[in-house]
Amino acid sequence: MSAVIRGGHFILGPEVKAFEQELAAYVGVDHAIGVANGTDAISIAARALGVQPGDEVIVPSFTFYATAEAIAAIGATPVFCDVDRDTRNITVDTVKPALTSKTKAIVAVDLFGMPAEISAIRDAFGIPVIEDAAQALGASLAGRKAGALGDIATFSFYPSKNLGAFGDGGAITTDDADLAELARALRFHGSRDKQSFEYVGYNSRLDEIQATVLRVLLPQIDSWCDGRRAGAQAYVDAGLGDHLQLPGSVDGAIPAWHLYVPTADDADAKLASLNAAGVQARAYYRTPLHRQPAMAPYVNRNGKAAELRVTDELARTILALPISPVFTRAQADEVVAALAAS
Ligand SMILES: *Cc1c(COP(=O)(O)O)cnc(C)c1O
Repeated sequence: MSAVIRGGHFILGPEVKAFEQELAAYVGVDHAIGVANGTDAISIAARALGVQPGDEVIVPSFTFYATAEAIAAIGATPVFCDVDRDTRNITVDTVKPALTSKTKAIVAVDLFGMPAEISAIRDAFGIPVIEDAAQALGASLAGRKAGALGDIATFSFYPSKNLGAFGDGGAITTDDADLAELARALRFHGSRDKQSFEYVGYNSRLDEIQATVLRVLLPQIDSWCDGRRAGAQAYVDAGLGDHLQLPGSVDGAIPAWHLYVPTADDADAKLASLNAAGVQARAYYRTPLHRQPAMAPYVNRNGKAAELRVTDELARTILALPISPVFTRAQADEVVAALAAS
């Protein structure tokens, strides 16, 4: 950070370039493009795929708001689909009812760090898939890393993510040289050479200081994810399954457990007693996206609202428990004891 400050090269300099190469190598793709945040990353990835105003893009309703917001922000129509109850991810079966002749792309979120079955979705429909891997750096599926599963993928380096900057940051990864070049132009005002402006783009850059932070932290990601997986295993070993329905796994997946989110029919009551016992459990996504006020214009298609039964059920029953790279068995025992006493 000091070297960047002394050098005075703050935007799109050698640190961002080096981080892009290191991230691409880690994920196992040819190209990584640093951007300002994970939300812009999704908008830019969709634009690079050719998504235009009026096009439909299928997105899960059970995810962080930015997944759908980034699609609406480019004038396209987010079409909400359901998720699988066990893995909380979209599947071939949940995408199918949302498909129309206007579907231009699908956004698959690796929710809570569990990679989605993206190659099955690509094979089934022949429609490009944007992998929203904001929660999944360090996860893998069938030997491919999260960020290498779709046609193009997006990351967020918001401080609470598995790899966090000291501020905002994001990235796009892809094996496709044309998509990469377009994304690179779009992050810089739609220009390839700072002379000719070919597209109405974005001012969306990862800055040099954040890139230095990310370059120092990226080499830690595997050991941090190992710690998160050990934390998840500690919950299993501590008997959490006697009190809550544990999250399921995608076959062949090694999850990154950004969040560890079991379910319970009386989730709010359990949440209250955990919080009273000093356990920082949280309710994430209690209101799914198809019920958010700003998404109302996109929900009633042909006068008929999509029924997203699993999404509504999960939204009501989820319960995010503490997890981190340094979460211990003793802490898991404490959480389980608090549940047993409630
Ligand atoms: C955090 C997150 C984003 C947005 O990332 P920002 O960097 O905060 O813009 C998008 N999608 C998912 C699934 C996220 O968790």
